Amino acid sequence: MSTTPSGSAEPAPPGTVRCQNCGRLNRLPTAAEGRPRCGNCHQWLPWIVDAGDDTFAETAEQSSIPVLVDMWATWCGPCRMVSPVLAQLAQERAGNLKLVKVDVDASPRLSQRFGIQAVPTLMVLIDGHVAARQAGAAPAPALRRWLDQALPTNPANHNPAAPDGKAAR
Ligand SMILES: [Zn+2]
Repeated sequence: MSTTPSGSAEPAPPGTVRCQNCGRLNRLPTAAEGRPRCGNCHQWLPWIVDAGDDTFAETAEQSSIPVLVDMWATWCGPCRMVSPVLAQLAQERAGNLKLVKVDVDASPRLSQRFGIQAVPTLMVLIDGHVAARQAGAAPAPALRRWLDQALPTNPANHNPAAPDGKAAR
């Protein structure tokens, strides 16, 4: 018997997300195929997960929807400014975008592989390929524009020269 109203100010525990539509707390998959939906009202949920050296492939590269990768560090002030903006963008594009956060200090192999020289470094991954990349923090409107240009909802910018004509879908 719970008398507590669904306090929306209460932060969602790790691995879960609160549905913006009905307030229900949902468990979030990290590497599942498909896209998470609210178990109660079936709205798309913002998909924000952490990844590292060992989980990046299944979490980000094999994602069925475009991925926004946030390479960040705990000591990085601009990262803390950008983080809520990215969460907002993921919320706006729920069902069409997965936000994957990578702590560069905990993920030396990824840092080396992508040649990370500044944090935050943001990347858009589509089918495992880097479609866009942005080093350093930027104001919210600039990030939104950058992201929109990189996402395939803008056909003019999506993969203009498909390498070997593989029919994807
Ligand atoms: Zn819901």
